Amino acid sequence: HTKIQYEPYRKNFYVEVPELAKMTTEEVNAYRLELEGITVKGKGCPKPIKTWVQCGVSMKILNALKKHGYEKPTPIQAQAIPAIMSGRDLIGIAKTGSGKTIAFLLPMFRHIMDQRPLEESEGPISVIMTPTRELALQITKECKKFSKPLGLRVVCVYGGTGISEQIAELKRGAEIIVCTPGRMIDMLGANSGEFITLGRVASLSLKDIMQICTFDVMRIIDNVRPDRQTVMFSATFPRAMEALARRILSKPLEIQVGGRSVVCSDVEQHVLVIDEDKKFLKLLEILGHYQEKGSVIIFVDKQEHADGLLKDLMKASYPCMSLHGGIDQYDRDSIINDFKNGACRLMVATSVAARGLDVKQLILVVNYNCPNHYEDYVHRAGRTGRAGNKGYAYTFITEDQVRYAGDIIKALELSGSPVPPELEQLWASFKDQQKAEGKTIKSSSGFSGKGFKFDETEHALAN
Ligand code: ADP
Repeated sequence: HTKIQYEPYRKNFYVEVPELAKMTTEEVNAYRLELEGITVKGKGCPKPIKTWVQCGVSMKILNALKKHGYEKPTPIQAQAIPAIMSGRDLIGIAKTGSGKTIAFLLPMFRHIMDQRPLEESEGPISVIMTPTRELALQITKECKKFSKPLGLRVVCVYGGTGISEQIAELKRGAEIIVCTPGRMIDMLGANSGEFITLGRVASLSLKDIMQICTFDVMRIIDNVRPDRQTVMFSATFPRAMEALARRILSKPLEIQVGGRSVVCSDVEQHVLVIDEDKKFLKLLEILGHYQEKGSVIIFVDKQEHADGLLKDLMKASYPCMSLHGGIDQYDRDSIINDFKNGACRLMVATSVAARGLDVKQLILVVNYNCPNHYEDYVHRAGRTGRAGNKGYAYTFITEDQVRYAGDIIKALELSGSPVPPELEQLWASFKDQQKAEGKTIKSSSGFSGKGFKFDETEHALAN
């Protein structure tokens, strides 16, 4: 970087409106509490805004917000937008479905519009990175709602589909690239870096990036100018991520809405201790109850289980689709489309394939196989109860999966949900037994975060 002369650019666009300027510290604290208990770490964070107009975005953006029914900022948006607008690096933690995408998109547009236009062959001004293709496509879609009226170009760079179409799009020029790390690395390396140059990137956003792909992520970040603005958003922020965060952020503010890594209170959570051979009948019973009310995702642990359950459900006259890493990208896109537009309302999926999926009419999540760690549970349950809608999550746990019970109990407790006595009992007897055998209990990772564990196919899929 010392050899490159980067163009100077402006980061701070924020002008506090008089209405906010006159708020006292007490009033600000009370308002933050009202916004689902926002906490802020770090010095010099602007006050949270109350309306879109107060964050200083252009008329075009205001019109687009109105057009898409975004009446007012959600809590994370209210606090994160002025902070990013004022040029700060940021860690934003808020439950799934709370509008984190727009929290970094709006300041990013302001940032891009302030810079000189791209010349031919110049690379993007803004890069958004996220672990899976589905998330990348979702962010791209949200981005286009605003980039189109602003006359900005977005390209989504993700693996699994042919690279040539993405290259063609990149050649036409793009101010914004939304990418998954694996494909981005391929793209940067291809044709001696002719397709994408990072010399003009001044704004970097990471969404839902956990420990996975750290190596690729770091390689990309290290190629972006050191005085860039970097923001990270996620529903969970395991402590293990902090080392990475410290390396890539400069004097960041940390903004958190609600507790760290918690299932949204709009999700009613049920956990059933159940025998393996009783699960299917129970599932049918639950489906009978909810299927009329909205869409349903059933999570399983492995691809082959997804296909097996799909067959059984079809036999039981439930029209159904399955989504996992073994299905080719083209089919996966159309499956997700059918699920989002309600053409099919029942889906069996593995965790990674459905991670971050935003489907408003999703009423029910069933963990047919128990999630094997805390964060996975939170992310799966977070597929429902989005944008203020009520949702339900059912989790099956068999006695031989008792080692996961601690994490589930923790998730229930932290989100204020009752813990079923039989689950508590199961966990207590497991702990006693472990103690008697002189073993330490490794479960209940809680906030220390063990990180996501993917099998190999899923890991490739995430890239
Ligand atoms: P997260 O990233 O926090 O999981 P998303 O950014 O995907 O959440 O947003 C969840 C849903 O809420 C999306 O469908 C999005 O369009 C919608 N949304 C975002 N901001 C607002 C807002 N201010 N008002 C209403 N809906 C919103």
